[in-house]
Amino acid sequence: MEKQGLQVAIDGPASAGKSTVAKIVATRFHYIYCDTGAMYRAITWKVLQAGVALDDEAAVKQLLDSITIRFEPGEPTQKVFVDQTDVTLAIRQPDVTNSVSAVSALPAVRQELTARQRDIADAGKIVMDGRDIGSTVLPDAEVKIFLVASVDERAQRRLKDNAAKGIDTPLATLKHEIEERDRKDSTRKVSPLTQAADAIRLDTTSMSINQVADKIAEIIKEKESL
Ligand code: C5P
Repeated sequence: MEKQGLQVAIDGPASAGKSTVAKIVATRFHYIYCDTGAMYRAITWKVLQAGVALDDEAAVKQLLDSITIRFEPGEPTQKVFVDQTDVTLAIRQPDVTNSVSAVSALPAVRQELTARQRDIADAGKIVMDGRDIGSTVLPDAEVKIFLVASVDERAQRRLKDNAAKGIDTPLATLKHEIEERDRKDSTRKVSPLTQAADAIRLDTTSMSINQVADKIAEIIKEKESL
């Protein structure tokens, strides 16, 4: 398939604002938005449903091979489906959030989801967010952004997001969960959370979502004009 438009990779730790910003940027440029974290969450949801052990790599891979993970446009958020089941809300619940790092550390899971993500990104005009997009999934992406923010700021943001979803987890617990997820995601053996050498690092701690989106839009426009 001939590639049109750019590939934009947005990586960073948990709750750094990646998906919110990625969505805004994709809408502005009429690009497709792909939330790779949702794909890892979707297989984790399936694993929990099936009662498979989080570290049983062969069984998890078999489960992954048996399901489709699809996105559908929706307001205010894109919908996520595992086969015919709408899992948009279920994959944001604490049980999935706290199990996803174990599942995403399994090499067979990463290999399969990386292949699916590359297929989605092949045609270009894509904004993809995650942990290893610039470093592993799309090493040739024209735009690579690495978003960071302090743990305090990220926990506050997650608290607000959760409140809107009716999830009631105390701030201190959220801080702890974010730190744990970052630790696991950064120390796993296969494609850990890492900033690609050619990624632009943006610290969003004291920036508004729109400021971050504007900054990324500027970078995309520059690349588009080359
Ligand atoms: O982005 P989000 O926080 O929804 O991602 C959920 C989890 O999925 C991360 O904590 C990480 O374990 C995993 N993930 C990953 N690689 C990606 C995207 C997400 O390992 N590209």
